[in-house]
Amino acid sequence: MTTIGSVTRQIAALEISGSNSRSFAPSSSTARPAHTKQPSQPNVAKLLTKFAAPNLNASQSSLAGLPPPPSRKEKEAAAAQQASLDIGRYDGGLELENEERGEVVSGEAAAELALDSSLSQTYPTQEWTLHSFDMGRPLGKGKFGRVYMVRTKTAPNYILALKTLYKSELVKNNVEKQTRREIEIQQNLRHPNIIRLYGFFHDEKRIFLMIEFAGKGELYKQLSKHGSFTEKRSARYIDQMADALIYLHGKHVIHRDIKPENLLVGINGELKIGDFGWSVHAPGLRRTTLCGTLDYLPPEMVEGKDHNEKVDHWALGVLTYEFMIGAPPFEDRGSVKNTYRRIARVDLKFPPTISAEAKDLISRLLQYDPQKRIQLTDVLNHPWIVRYRPQGAVRQSTI
Ligand code: ATP
Ligand code: MG
Repeated sequence: MTTIGSVTRQIAALEISGSNSRSFAPSSSTARPAHTKQPSQPNVAKLLTKFAAPNLNASQSSLAGLPPPPSRKEKEAAAAQQASLDIGRYDGGLELENEERGEVVSGEAAAELALDSSLSQTYPTQEWTLHSFDMGRPLGKGKFGRVYMVRTKTAPNYILALKTLYKSELVKNNVEKQTRREIEIQQNLRHPNIIRLYGFFHDEKRIFLMIEFAGKGELYKQLSKHGSFTEKRSARYIDQMADALIYLHGKHVIHRDIKPENLLVGINGELKIGDFGWSVHAPGLRRTTLCGTLDYLPPEMVEGKDHNEKVDHWALGVLTYEFMIGAPPFEDRGSVKNTYRRIARVDLKFPPTISAEAKDLISRLLQYDPQKRIQLTDVLNHPWIVRYRPQGAVRQSTI
């Protein structure tokens, strides 16, 4: 039987664009990053591999030895298989929610939020509406609207997560310009460890984002379930994170809100940076005002100084620590003030179970002076990372 897993493991990589066509036009394709585990694939997954166009650019994919493009028969077979996949039961939530929630926006804000990827200058996609999808099970509730598993009605019936954002709520939170900018940025990002934004459209009250479906859900849940991760699993995640951050920084994008809650897991267990802050808050303020936790903020931010991309290096250090120890390093549940103080002093303590190599990397990331934090390319070459990298794995940033 075809499983969601067997098919979705390829879907993450599918190109959903087609500037001149009204149907999906898979672009060039290439191998999945070698570090991800490749379980034996049933036929449908093999077929889909031929469609796979991972989030890499053309020059990189040309190095990877491309499989021949799929034949029409293969495309049809894959489409038929995908069309029969169970995407779960739709609960009618989008319609119900839309009756009660949100208002029609007007004027400048309405123009700002009239977002439609088919009109995009750089990566136009086909025109989409809610009728383009079969609706599946609810995946979660975001701050500005619900998220559903969906499948496109047109072949080859891609499975996606469809995220709604209520325009009037974006306006109330004064984030309409930022949301627009972030959608534009996200649309241009292609990396195996960054959730792809395939397209977007809107109606009177809502914006809809067509995003890559993360087959294994939220990393946060897994961390809560296990309490902490092994060194091997942690190192492999950090390896992928460092690679994604190198890519982002190369595009002058600073994430500024790296933490387990913003990470998703793909069907092969690969990490995916999920949230670019569609929820868009000044990163520092969010944790302090809403959640009362500053745990991932670097000293320069808690001290209100200017910051640059090195904030992500710091957060990577906090993340590494939290993966292995199960709690962030400067946490003080009783006192926000004390967390502040511990961050500003870099009051870092390790339990005895942590290896010397892991300690070394964390300490090099958690440097008070942003300039002294280890370079991300050096993270990729750090002995602790190299030790656990699967044989033959190639990081995108080193291709
Ligand atoms: P919050 O700030 O509360 O996390 P949000 O506005 O950032 O809300 P998301 O976290 O993006 O919303 O989405 C809400 C939930 O939907 C997530 O917690 C997750 O369970 C699910 N979800 C979101 N995107 C995806 C995806 N691409 N694949 C699978 N599940 C997803
Ligand atoms: Mg979120």
